[in-house]
Amino acid sequence: MTDNAILVTGGAGFIGSHYVRTLLTGPETADVTLTVLDKLTYAGNPANLRPVEDHPRYRFVRGDIADAALVGELAAAHGTVVHFAAESHVDRSISSAGDFVRTNVLGTQVLLDAALRAGGRRFVHVSTDEVYGSVPTGSSLETDRLDPNSPYAASKASSDLLALAYHRTHGLDVRVTRCSNNYGPYQFPEKVIPLFITRLLDGGTVPLYGDGLNVRDWLHVDDHVQGIEAVRTAGRPGEIYNIGGGTELTNKELTGLLLDACGTGWESVEYVADRQGHDRRYSVDHTKIGKELGYAPRRDFTTGLAETVAWYTARRDWWQPLLRRAALP
Ligand code: NAD
Repeated sequence: MTDNAILVTGGAGFIGSHYVRTLLTGPETADVTLTVLDKLTYAGNPANLRPVEDHPRYRFVRGDIADAALVGELAAAHGTVVHFAAESHVDRSISSAGDFVRTNVLGTQVLLDAALRAGGRRFVHVSTDEVYGSVPTGSSLETDRLDPNSPYAASKASSDLLALAYHRTHGLDVRVTRCSNNYGPYQFPEKVIPLFITRLLDGGTVPLYGDGLNVRDWLHVDDHVQGIEAVRTAGRPGEIYNIGGGTELTNKELTGLLLDACGTGWESVEYVADRQGHDRRYSVDHTKIGKELGYAPRRDFTTGLAETVAWYTARRDWWQPLLRRAALP
C-alpha cells in the first residue's frame, strides 16, 4: 500500500475540497490518488469538487466517518488518511453540540482505529488553533496546554488528543496540524468572511459581535494546504505543527476591509450581542513548521481578500443556493 493513496475525509467541505483540487492539479503531486469520504452534511457540497470530478486519480465515496465497516474497508485500501471531516461552525455547537461530539470525537476515534487495524496508516489530523483557547498576549506554541472554550473547540481538542494518544499508545503515525482561521473561495457562507461578503453584495447588513475587538489570525486556504502537504510528506510522526497566516486583525478591522471591498460603509453594520464564550484572541506561533519543514505563509492578505471578494462576486451561482442551508438550526 503506497503512502500516496490518500483517503481525504471531509473533502467536499471548504478546506478539504481545496486540498483535493490543489493536489489533483499540481505538478508536485502527480503521483497521488485521492478518495474523498464525505457524508455531505449541510456543509458538504459536490459543487466544490466539480472541477475535478472526472479526474482519473479521484474517487468520491458518500459516507460517515463514524461508519466503522465502511471506514475499515477504505483504510485498508489507502496508505494515508488526511482527516478534515468535522462539524466546524462554533455558533452551531453553541445551539446544539451533539453532532460535534459524534463526528469530531467518535468519528475521529473510528477512523484512528481503522488506520491502526489496517496495519498502521499515516494519519494527518487537521486540528485548530481554537484548542488553545483565548491568548491575551503572545502566541500559542505546540507545547502549550489546551484550554478550549466552545463546544466546537472542546470536541476538536478531544479528537486532537485522541489522535496523539493513538501515536503514544499504539505507535500509529499520527501528525497533528493546528491552523488559524482560513479564508478563500468555496467557503460556506455561514463563516464570517463569506457571510459578510454575500450579505453586502446583496445590499444587506452584517452582524458584528460585541465590541468587534476579538482578534483572529487569517490564513489563506492555499497556505493551509501548503502546510498540510509539508506535514504529510516531511513531518515527523507524533508531532504537532501550528500553521499560521501571520495576519492578525480585530473583527472590526476585518469588517472595515470588507465594507471597502464591497463598496459600502458602516451603515451596513449591525452590532449584535457577543457570542457566548467568545474567545478574545487566537494567535499561533508557526516557528516550528517554518524551521523544520520550510513553511511560510505566501499569500498576502490584501490580495487574497480582494481575490476572495472577486470570487464571490463572480460565483453567485455557487453561493445563492446555499443561503437557505446556512440558516442556523
Ligand atoms: P467544512 O464545514 O466546510 O467541511 C466539513 C466537511 O466534513 C463537509 O464536507 C461535511 O459534509 C463533512 N462531514 C461532516 N461530518 C461528517 C461525517 N460524520 N462523515 C463524513 N463527512 C463529514 O469545514 P472546513 O472549514 O473545511 O474545515 C475542515 C477542517 O479544518 C475541520 O476539521 C475544521 O475543524 C478544521 N479547521 C477549519 C478552520 C477554518 O477556518 N475553516 C480553522 C481551523 C481548523
